[in-house]
Amino acid sequence: TDPQRPTVTVGPSKLALPIHHIPNFIPLHFIIVGCGLGGLAAAYSLGRAGHRVTVFEGAAKLVEVGAGIQISPNVSRLLIRWGLGEELRAAMVKPQAITFRRYKTGRRVGWTKWGTTMDNDYGAPYCHLHRADLLNMLYKLAAPYMTLFLNSRVVKVDADRCCVSLASGASFSADIILGADGVKSMVREVVVGRPDKPIPTGDAAYRAIIPTSVMLQDPELKPLVDCAEMTGWIGPGRHVMAYCLRNKKEYNLVMLHPDRGIQAGEAYDVPGSVEQMRADYAGWEPRVEKLLSLVSHTLIWPLLDRDPLDTWVHPTAPIALLGDACHPMLPYRAQGAAMAIEDSAYLGILFSHISSRRQIRPLLEAYQAQRYPRTTETQLAARANQKIFHLPDGPEQVARDISMREGMEDSLR
Ligand code: FAD
Repeated sequence: TDPQRPTVTVGPSKLALPIHHIPNFIPLHFIIVGCGLGGLAAAYSLGRAGHRVTVFEGAAKLVEVGAGIQISPNVSRLLIRWGLGEELRAAMVKPQAITFRRYKTGRRVGWTKWGTTMDNDYGAPYCHLHRADLLNMLYKLAAPYMTLFLNSRVVKVDADRCCVSLASGASFSADIILGADGVKSMVREVVVGRPDKPIPTGDAAYRAIIPTSVMLQDPELKPLVDCAEMTGWIGPGRHVMAYCLRNKKEYNLVMLHPDRGIQAGEAYDVPGSVEQMRADYAGWEPRVEKLLSLVSHTLIWPLLDRDPLDTWVHPTAPIALLGDACHPMLPYRAQGAAMAIEDSAYLGILFSHISSRRQIRPLLEAYQAQRYPRTTETQLAARANQKIFHLPDGPEQVARDISMREGMEDSLR
């Protein structure tokens, strides 16, 4: 207590409070390891809450690969609340519906209206964005609130001293360390206290973007642009998802298929073989083959997964995980970035009223308790979709298609 300030003794106890004591906000110093979509969102949300934020990113530049990303209303709502509504509207395409088709015949097996239905049902739009546009939006938002070190891979986390070390030998300490270092997270190993590597799923994704100007010249492909629907062609062990980006000027293709033992690289910018990609979908609906004939280069992402963790918070040190570092999501539900951004928003809310260091651990535990059931359910649902989308032709696939067709208007069948 401050000897200059009057104090009051409460009852017979020895507890003496300064008379002017007001439980106050205490700003903390957060270190965030990793500056992907999750790291940026956390930097903004914690910086905005009044904390000092230092971010270490291993890559020399912040770049997202040339690919699309789906942002569902649970996250577009947050982005709008964070003041990004205008940028979002300018950068997004609002898919009007989602259509599922049989891989060989193109026969429609499912159709769900999206468009304004999403806004009406969830209070925010479903958006298709270019990943680079989303990264730029989040970067602009976070930049005033963070000190970012690029080319700064964290090689060691010392839990006892709450500090991180870089390859250069420099080390930095903080009140709290957050691991937002993705599916291959090294902070995760510190949190769980043992080696813990991601598991290859056996699937990989080709990514490609084609200009819609070429599609608009082709009477068979033009309707895919005009309708602005997301189309999924589903077949045994593979599927293709396709949707428009950037004012319908670009068409995004993501093609899931068996990985043939390809190893995941350090980053997501590994080029794939266009010839192999076309061969992988030979015999599919002619429009799919035509779309793939327009692809000039592709990226290949072997998909990694992890089982849900017991804990995202270090047992004794103020170190926690967020995003793919604790709950990587297979892309079959398009929720990985969404869950990372939700985690970040929640951390910002929880830490916006901290008034004592003693609250750090309960707040980190509250973060995990609140987020864990939702992210685990989503993680497992994404895994289930992998099986559902990729069923071999047969009775289970027929039953799936019948259930998907239920509720679809007759005119669309
Ligand atoms: P990352 O984006 O992986 O970022 C981690 C960052 O940490 C990287 O920048 C990395 O360089 C850095 N880093 C790693 N180690 C260190 C270190 N030791 N020191 C410093 N920096 C380090 N999600 C959706 O919501 N919607 C979708 O439509 C969607 N589509 C997808 C399609 C595919 C094919 C795939 C594979 C994923 C998709 N996802 C989607 C998932 C989404 O991309 C991820 O869940 C999301 O990017 C995870 O963000 P993150 O910040 O947790 O991790």
